[in-house]
Amino acid sequence: MRWFKPGEGILLVLGLIPVAIFLLNHWPSPSTDPVVWFRWSGRLVGVVGLTLLLLAALMSLRLPKLDLMFGGLPRLWRIHRLVGFMGFVNILLHAWLLGFATVTQGRTLSLAGLFPDVANWPIWAGWLALALMVVFLAPTFQFFGRLNYQRWKRLHLLSAPALVLGLIHTLPLADQPLVWWVLGALSIGAIVWRKVLSPHLGRSAWEVAEVRQLKHDVVEICLKPLGEPMRYMAGQFVYLTPQVPGLSAGNREEHPYTIASAPSDPMLRLGIKDLGDASHALQQVPPGSRVDVEGPYGDFYLRHYPKRDQLWLGGGIGITPFVSGARAMLDDQTDASVHLFYLSQDEYRSYYLDELQNIAVKQSRFDITAHHFSVQGAVTVAFLEEHCPDFRDREVYLCGPPGMMKHLIPLLKRAGITGNAIHSEVFDFL
Ligand SMILES: Cc1cc2nc3c(=O)[nH]c(=O)nc-3n(C[C@H](O)[C@H](O)[C@H](O)COP(=O)(O)OP(=O)(O)OC[C@H]3O[C@@H](n4cnc5c(N)ncnc54)[C@H](O)[C@@H]3O)c2cc1C
Repeated sequence: MRWFKPGEGILLVLGLIPVAIFLLNHWPSPSTDPVVWFRWSGRLVGVVGLTLLLLAALMSLRLPKLDLMFGGLPRLWRIHRLVGFMGFVNILLHAWLLGFATVTQGRTLSLAGLFPDVANWPIWAGWLALALMVVFLAPTFQFFGRLNYQRWKRLHLLSAPALVLGLIHTLPLADQPLVWWVLGALSIGAIVWRKVLSPHLGRSAWEVAEVRQLKHDVVEICLKPLGEPMRYMAGQFVYLTPQVPGLSAGNREEHPYTIASAPSDPMLRLGIKDLGDASHALQQVPPGSRVDVEGPYGDFYLRHYPKRDQLWLGGGIGITPFVSGARAMLDDQTDASVHLFYLSQDEYRSYYLDELQNIAVKQSRFDITAHHFSVQGAVTVAFLEEHCPDFRDREVYLCGPPGMMKHLIPLLKRAGITGNAIHSEVFDFL
C-alpha cells in the first residue's frame, strides 16, 4: 500500500472513463495518411490532458480525513503537481499535433484552421485556456525562478477560468458530454470549496492562550478551542489562519504547522520558527488573539507499525512531529521503543531538547541522542550505530531541512535499510 493508495485508484478509474469513451468512438482506422494520425493523436492527447488537469483540480480539495486516502496531504500535493504537469504537457502536445495536421493544407487554410473567425468560439476558448495555463503553471514549475508563495497562490486561481474555458472548448466536440459535465462539476466544485466555502465552513475558532519563547526565533503557541476540541494523531499538521488585524504580517493568511502537542492534550501546541514575514509576526501574537484552525492533515505516523521499534531523526524545526510523538509516549502503552536523534546546528538551536531529555528520563522506551553539526560534523553510520546499535532493524521516520534529508536518506539506504522502512516529511509543498 506504500506506492498505491485507495484514493489514487478512484482517480485512476475516473480518469480512464473519458479516455475509454474517446477510444471506443474513435478507434484508429488503418490509414497511411500522416494527417489522419496527427489529428487522431492530437485529439487523444487533448482528452488525456484535460482529464489530467481536471483530476489535478479535484485533488486540490482539502478535507480532513480525505487526504488519508492518498497517504496524507503532502503526498496528495505531490501527485497533484505531477498530474497537473502531465496534463499541461499533453495540452501543449494537443495544440502542436493538431497544428501539424493542418500544415499540408497550405499556409492560408492552415492558419484559418488554427485561428478561425470568432464565430468558431470553441477554438478561441481553447487558445485562451492554454494562455491562462501558461501564466499560472509557469511559476509552479519554476520556469522563471521561485515566486513568493502568496503571489503564486493567487496566480493559481487562474486554474478555475482555464478549466472552464477548456471545457467550453471540448464540450461541443465531445462524444459523451455528460462525462465532462460531471468531471468539470467535481473539479470546479473542489476549487469553489477550497477557495470560497472552506474559509467559512471548514475551520474552527481557537484562542491563543499562551506564547512560550523557546529560543529567540522559535515560539510555542498554545491554543485553546473556542468550540469543539480537535481529534488528531501525533505527527499531523493544521492550517493556522490568524484573525488578528494588528499583526505585522500574515493576518488572515493560512500557513501549515505541525501539531507539537500530544493527542491527549486539551490545548493545541504549535512550535513556530521565524522563517518569513508571517511566521515572524506570529512570534509576537498577543495572548487572547483569535485564530482559525483547519485540519488535521497528514499521516506521518499512520504508517507507524506499532510493534516495530522506531528510529526518529529530527532536525531544525522538523523536530515538531517528534515532540508530539514523544509527548504522546508519556501516556502510550505500546511495547515498541523509540530512539530519537535530535540533529541541530548547535545546542542553541535544539529547541525542545530539555523537554525531550526529561521525557527520556520518565519513559524507559524512549531514548534521545543530541547531535550538533557545528561540533560533530555530519551524522555518520558509525554515530548511529554507536548510540543505537540496532538502528537497521527499526522503522525510520525523518523530518528536517532539505540538506539533512538529502544526506540521511542515502546514508540509511547504504547502511542496508530498505526504502519501504523509511518515512519522511518535508515542511515544503513546492
Ligand atoms: C506539512 C508542513 C508542516 C510544517 N510544520 C511546521 C512547524 O511545525 N513549524 C514551523 O515553524 N514551520 C512549519 N512548516 C513551515 C511553515 O509552514 C512555513 O515556515 C511558513 O508557512 C512560512 O511562511 P512565512 O510567510 O513566514 O514565510 P515565507 O517567506 O512566505 O515562506 C517561506 C517558505 O515557506 C513555504 N510556505 C509559505 N507559506 C506556505 C503555505 N501557506 N503553505 C505551504 N508552504 C508555505 C514556502 O516554501 C516558502 O518558500 C510546515 C510546513 C509544512 C508544509
